[in-house]
Amino acid sequence: MDNNLIDKDILYVKYIKHAEDVCKSKGDRLTDLRRAIFEILIKSEKPLKAYEIIEKMREHGKRIHAATIYRILEFLSSNGLVHRVDALNAYIACTKNHTDHPSLLFICSNCSRTAEIDDPDLCGSIHKNLIKLGMSSNNDCIEVKGRCENCAIQATMDDSN
Ligand SMILES: [Zn+2]
Ligand SMILES: [Zn+2]
Repeated sequence: MDNNLIDKDILYVKYIKHAEDVCKSKGDRLTDLRRAIFEILIKSEKPLKAYEIIEKMREHGKRIHAATIYRILEFLSSNGLVHRVDALNAYIACTKNHTDHPSLLFICSNCSRTAEIDDPDLCGSIHKNLIKLGMSSNNDCIEVKGRCENCAIQATMDDSN
C-alpha cells in the first residue's frame, strides 16, 4: 500500500468537504461542475490556466465552454476556494482556510510550482506598511517569485557539468 496516496486521498476529501461547507454557508452549493473543477485544481501540482482545465475536463469526457470555466473560477475565487495567480495568469486551489487576510503565494519562476503560506502576521505587517505609504493592495494574493528546491538542485547540477 502506498501510504502517500492514502494521505492524499484523505486530504482531497477534507478539501471537498470544506468547499461544500463554504458553499452551504453562502446558501449555495458545490455543484458537480464546480466540484470537478475544484478537484482538478486540488490535484494539480501547479497552477492551471483556464484552457488547461478545459483540456483536463475533456480527458474526463466533459466538454465545457471557456465562459463557463471562467464563471465557475470566479465563483470559487470569490469564495476563497481558489486563488488567481496573476504572475502566471492561472489558478490554484486554496489549501488554507483564510478569509480575513490575503494569501501569500511563492511561485517558482522556472517551473511554475506554487506554494501557499498562511501567515496572518506577515500579511498584517505588509498591510500596515502600505497604509503608511497611503497605499492599499487590490489583490487577495501577495505573490513572491523565486526558485523552488527542485529547480535549485537542477541548476546546481547543470552548473557542475
Ligand atoms: Zn488561500
Ligand atoms: Zn521550480
